[in-house]
Amino acid sequence: MGQFVLNRSQNPTSEAERNAALADPGFGRFYTDHMAVMNYTEGQGWHDPRLIATEDFSLHPAAAVLHYGQEIFEGLKAYRREDDSIWLFRPERNARRFMGSAERLEMAVLPEETFLNAVTELVELEQNWVPEGVNEQSLYIRPYMIADEPYLGVREAHRYIFAVIATPAGAYYPEPVKLWITPNFTRAAKGGTGAAKCGGNYAASLAAANEAAKHGCGQVLYTDGAEHKWLEECGTMNFMLVTADGQLVTPALGSILDGVTRNSILALATDHGLKPVERPVSIDEMWEGLDSGHITETFACGTAAVITPIVGFNSPDRGEEAVGDGTPGVKTREIREHLLEIQYGRAEDKHGWMRRV
Ligand code: PMP
Repeated sequence: MGQFVLNRSQNPTSEAERNAALADPGFGRFYTDHMAVMNYTEGQGWHDPRLIATEDFSLHPAAAVLHYGQEIFEGLKAYRREDDSIWLFRPERNARRFMGSAERLEMAVLPEETFLNAVTELVELEQNWVPEGVNEQSLYIRPYMIADEPYLGVREAHRYIFAVIATPAGAYYPEPVKLWITPNFTRAAKGGTGAAKCGGNYAASLAAANEAAKHGCGQVLYTDGAEHKWLEECGTMNFMLVTADGQLVTPALGSILDGVTRNSILALATDHGLKPVERPVSIDEMWEGLDSGHITETFACGTAAVITPIVGFNSPDRGEEAVGDGTPGVKTREIREHLLEIQYGRAEDKHGWMRRV
C-alpha cells in the first residue's frame, strides 16, 4: 500500500458541497476530488503512480487513442456497510479482465496488483465519497487505459495512461425491461473483440440501442454475428434463463464479456435450487421454451443493476412476446437479493468474494 504518491487537490469539495452531492448523486454527475494515474513508456514499463486532482488530461492531437481507439476500461463498485466499513466485490476479476482486454488490443498489460492498489488507494483516500449503502447506493469505480503516444501510423502505441476515476451512484430502483432482438446489428464475431471491454464495442452498440428504444425496448439482446441464431448478451449485461426443471442457463463464453456478476450468479445457483449450465443457446430454443412454458424467467446481469428482470422481447420475426405473466420471476428476485446481501455484508460471504478497503 501507499505506492501511489499523493498530491492533494488544491481545490477539494467542501464537506457541505459533498453532502449535498451525496444526498442526490444520480450517476456520473459528481466525481471524487482525486483520481489515480500511472504512465507506461516502452522500455521503461509502468511508472509514476500518483493520486492527483481529478482534472483534464492534456493530449497531443495525434495521440493514438483519438485515431485508432486503443482504449479499454473496467467498472466495479465500493459498498459501504452499516458499520461504515467499505468493501469491494471480487476486484481481482476486474483486474484480470483488464489484463485480457489489454492483450486483445495490443496495449501494455497492467499487473493485477497494481490495478488493485490503484483502486484500493483511491477508495481509501475518497472514502467520504462512498454513499451510505441504503437503496443500493455505492461508489462506482472506473479504471481505464488510453494510448497517448502521438503517432499516426497504424501500430500499437508505445505510451499509455492508466487512470481510475470514481463517481457516487445513487439509489437504484430495478425496472423490468424488454429486449429488442435485431437482425440489423451484431455486437461481436468470432475472432473479434466481444470478450474485451474496449470503448469501440460500446460506440458500435449505440445505433442498436437506439433501434431498440424505437421498438419500445430498454436494451438489445444480441445474437451471433455469423448466423443470427445463437443468443449472446445484452448491451452491457449478460443474459440468463431459468427453466421449469430447475436449470439456470446462460450462453457460453467466447465472444461475450466474462461478467463478474454472471460468474457469481452461476456460483450461487445451487443455493437457489438451480443447476448452473453454460452452453450455446439458440434463439429458436428460447422461442420454443417461452411458448411451452419450459422457460419460466429471463434476466440480464451486470455490476450496475446486479440483475434486471427481462419481462418480454420484441423482434421483427415474432413481434411482442412476454415471459411468463410479464412480471419479474421469483428466482430473479431471490438471486438479486442474495447477491446484494453479500455485497452489503448482510449475508455470509461463503466464496470469499468481498475485499475490505
Ligand atoms: N456484458 C457487457 C457487454 C458489459 O459491458 C458488462 C458490464 N461490464 C457485462 C456484460 C456485465 O459484466 P459485469 O458483471 O462484470 O459488470
